[in-house]
Formats: sequence, C-alpha cells, structure tokens
Amino acid sequence: MASFLSAGDKPVVYILATGGTIAGASSSSTASSYDAGKVLIETILQALPKDEVAKYATLKSEQVLQKGSQNLTPSDWLKISKRVNELLKDKNIDAIVITHGTDTIEESAMFLQLTTKSDKPVVLVGAMRPSTSLSADGPKNLFDAIVLASSPLSKGKGVLLTFNGNILSASDVTKSSPVHIDAFKPANIGYLGYMWNNTPYFLRDNLQRHTTQSQFDISNTSSLPQVEILYGYAGSSAKAVEDAVKNGAKGIVYAGVGNGNFNDEVQKALIKASQSGVKVVRTSRIIYGPTPQWGEVDDEKYGFITSWWHTPQATRIILMLGLNAGITDSKELQKLMLSY
Ligand code: GLU
Repeated sequence: MASFLSAGDKPVVYILATGGTIAGASSSSTASSYDAGKVLIETILQALPKDEVAKYATLKSEQVLQKGSQNLTPSDWLKISKRVNELLKDKNIDAIVITHGTDTIEESAMFLQLTTKSDKPVVLVGAMRPSTSLSADGPKNLFDAIVLASSPLSKGKGVLLTFNGNILSASDVTKSSPVHIDAFKPANIGYLGYMWNNTPYFLRDNLQRHTTQSQFDISNTSSLPQVEILYGYAGSSAKAVEDAVKNGAKGIVYAGVGNGNFNDEVQKALIKASQSGVKVVRTSRIIYGPTPQWGEVDDEKYGFITSWWHTPQATRIILMLGLNAGITDSKELQKLMLSY
C-alpha cells in the first residue's frame, strides 16, 4: 500500500489497481498498438495534478492485480470483491476507486454491485488510450473517478462507473465501442448523471437492488458455479448447448436472436438441458432493451428463465450468484433477474 497525498480532512479515497489500458504502455505515443497492464498505479497517479486532487481527497493506493481485463476470471472477481469489502469496513477509508481494463469492466462492476456491502462509494474507471498516448484519456477519467468517489452525493448509489464525463450504474452498463473514448452506454434507461467542472450531477437513481440490499454473500466462496454464455444466429446448431452440458455447465445463458429466440433444434437441446437440471436463461444478442417472459417461447413449461433488462454478461453473474447461494428453482431465479 502506498500513501500518495495527505490532505488533512478530505475523504480518504483508496485506489485499487487491476491493470488495463489505463495502465497500458507503448513505445509510440501515436500508434494504436500497446501492452495493457504495464504501468503501476503509483506511476499513473503521478500524471494527476496533485494540488487539484488535494482539494477533493487523500489518496491511498494498492496494486491488487496487474492484468488486461480479458484475462480476469471469476476467481479474480472474488479476490477484488473480498478486498473491497475488507476496505469498506475500515472506518478510515471513505470510498474506493478501482482502475480496470475496459473489456470486462462491466462484469466486475456487476459482480461488485451484487457482492459489496456498504453505502460508501465504489467507482470503477478505465481508459481507451494507454497512459503513454498523446491525449491519454486515463488521467482525466481517473481524476473524475476520485472526485466522484469523494462526493457525499455518491453515497448509497451502488457501484458506479465514470467514463468520458458520464456516470453510469454498474447495473446497467455495457461497452459500446471497441475503440472510441466514449466507450460506455447504459443498456436500458440512461446515464445516472454527468461529471462537469469537478462536480457530479446526478439525474436519476438506480431502483434495482444492489450493495447493502443484495442478498448475495461471497465471503466464504472460493469458486463460482460454471455458467456459459452461448450466442444465437441464423442456422445455429444444438452442438454448443450439448457441449456446454457435457463440459459441466450448471447454467446456460443463451443470447438468442430478437426477443431471446432460438431455432427449433437449439430449443430442443435447451429443453433437454433444462430437464437435466441445467438452468437456462433466455436473453438477447441485442444489448439494449429487455428480454421479457411470455414471448414466443413457453418459459414456464420448459423451466426457462428470462433476463429482462440484463445484458448476457450481467445475466450470467446473477445466475452464478443465485446458484452459488443454492437457489435452483426457476421461479426463484426468475425473481432474481427481476429484482437486481
Ligand atoms: N484489453 C485490455 C483490457 O481490457 C485493454 C482494453 C482497455 O482497457 O481499454 O484490460
């Protein structure tokens, strides 16, 4: 752990670094190729204006992981979440900022949303350009995250993500561009708010259950149930479903076409999987908007669940946590989709 700034009575914001492009480095400041997760958090913090940071927060930092987020695993989520919960219990820490690769930041955000137990702000942040880039976006995003985390307005809002001046809820965030710096959009209703002139402006609240209202406890969990995401398309075969079952999946999230639909062959395989005890959740390859029950598929008859407003990747996390909590009844799992 490294102490960076001591600003007396300012909130203590603890920065947990995990790697990603925000910690990326390249030999060229203009080329698009680079290595993610190369620069340590203490160096990244040197790019921030110390006197400006000191107006908002006292910083402490820790390098908890150093990876591109495409290499993060559910064990890493458990590691991060347990460390965050430990820090949140410390009365000397007011808020947490997590620097993270953008590829799977939405998954870590959702996992933390459902497994951290505090009203204290937890803010995830990343960057699309490496730290060595001309016009790197990391320092400004990180500065915004520190200001957001230090604000009393952020308390009780659940896990947040700030990116390119926007504030998003972890319940409703999806990566929306593989390359552009405005890389995150809400999958449903809208941004929670905006950062402007070093102030968060919140426009709405998140009414989904999260953090202190979440029933999920991973403090004694060392591994999570295997849940696979499969993707639908015209002419998709049953093979992927059969392989997932054969390989030990306890759940399948099927990102179907349109309103979570699949062809007859896939449906037959999913029914068979469901009858064998594998939990099947219908969701959609369309990221935006809900996949509700009571469409073209008789979910109740087959024991299927639908994701409603969750992306396939968020759905997978809810299913993993539900199964980990011993919930196997489809109706109960359906209730989880609706309340988180
Ligand atoms: N693939 C890397 C990661 O997710 C870099 C992408 C990024 O952070 O923007 O960590």
